[in-house]
Amino acid sequence: MTALLELKKATKDFRGVPAIKDVDFTLEKGEIHAIVGENGAGKSTLMSILYGFYTADSGDIFVNGKLEHITDSRHALGLGIGMVHQHFMLVDNFSILENVILGAEDSAMLAPSLARARKELKRLADEYSLDVDPDAIVQDVSVGQQQRLEILKALYRGADILILDEPTGVLTPEEADDLFRVLRVLREQGKTVILITHKLREIMAITDTVSVMRQGQMVTTMPTADTSPERLAEAMVGRRVLLRVEKGAAHPGKTMLEVKNLVVNDDAGVPRVKGVSFTVRAGEIVGIAGVAGNGQSELLESIAGMRDQKSGDVILNGQPLSLEGDDGAARARLAGLAHVPEDRQREGLVTQFEEWENNILGYQDSKAYGAGIFLDIGAARKEALERMHKFDVRPANPRLKTASFSGGNQQKIVLAREMEQNPDVLMVGQPTRGVDIGAIEFIHNQIVKMRDAG
Ligand code: ADP
Ligand code: MG
Repeated sequence: MTALLELKKATKDFRGVPAIKDVDFTLEKGEIHAIVGENGAGKSTLMSILYGFYTADSGDIFVNGKLEHITDSRHALGLGIGMVHQHFMLVDNFSILENVILGAEDSAMLAPSLARARKELKRLADEYSLDVDPDAIVQDVSVGQQQRLEILKALYRGADILILDEPTGVLTPEEADDLFRVLRVLREQGKTVILITHKLREIMAITDTVSVMRQGQMVTTMPTADTSPERLAEAMVGRRVLLRVEKGAAHPGKTMLEVKNLVVNDDAGVPRVKGVSFTVRAGEIVGIAGVAGNGQSELLESIAGMRDQKSGDVILNGQPLSLEGDDGAARARLAGLAHVPEDRQREGLVTQFEEWENNILGYQDSKAYGAGIFLDIGAARKEALERMHKFDVRPANPRLKTASFSGGNQQKIVLAREMEQNPDVLMVGQPTRGVDIGAIEFIHNQIVKMRDAG
């Protein structure tokens, strides 16, 4: 039997550096095929070659056994290969229907064909149980709905193979479950799905086949039923990885942080945190869970002094913290409250700075570095290098621009800076978002270590 899609010995370099090298990939009709691998493994590059965004430097693509030279994404769609983009490819102030037809056929905006398009959209929505309101404006609907729209767009354009690149990163757990239901329906209706993810739970739950990439190469392909999260993690990282954090029982000591009746507004003046109180003791890790957008970000930002409070108290180590104003965050830090912000790139780092500069960011006036204009650059760089070794930041070069480190390494840079202050309380927002499993293991262990150190 010929495979639906076959890629042989595909290679693609960027400025002489191979992103993928001699990759073979086979897709069978009607399967949900996962591709996993750490950040930078080459997954997106491989997919971009399939849907015509890049052309490979060498290698062959066969669709239904026939050699094809895919030139662009319109060509790929003509062969039935469609990419389900993330929501930012949509026109926010257009309706769902308008977004579906935009660019699909040149005259679709004309009234008669608009009516036809509406009918076709309804038919597709029914067939694949992708319930949407065609007249809803994109910016008013949830991210989950926007993703359905992207799937409908691909189906409307005749895709038989749907490629989804990290589709659940932006979804709530409920929305992710709903996406999985939709993917199963697509498979039942004869479609084929390529799902890129590094979430092992998702792979085990819904895929038929899984391929693992590592450093630009295809390491292995196997039926999902024949593998396990542990084996996949090992294939991805190239060594054994503990998926569970090994930790003993906590021994909580005295109260370190008290938050009382905190009220915080968002940028639009809408209350997001409405009278929240909680206590954190020394030697314990307190988790704050919830679907994004329910006030967690505002809560953390206000306790860290980055966002003013409407009312309430934050008491650190018995002392009320005054957090108002532009230097609130600096005062919180001085008082012994370290913070790893949710958005490391915008709030935790200045990515245009060199690594060693970020290593002292927020602490640059501390005596340890000679203070202010008398900054002891040599000492600062030496310390940065030591921390890079301790936190396994790669490459361990403090003179590199911070933007050139991967997401996981950037997160370690922020963690190293905040943890090494030896704070009384450490607040960490989304510590492992977008971070590879090898680094997740490391970060979790560091946090537990801090807990055990009190
Ligand atoms: P993944 O999707 O698995 O995270 P990518 O395919 O995005 O990996 O990247 C593979 C490698 O190719 C990485 O080292 C990345 O830095 C590099 N790369 C990807 N796209 C480009 C590009 N447009 N220019 C230069 N390098 C790139
Ligand atoms: Mg990618």
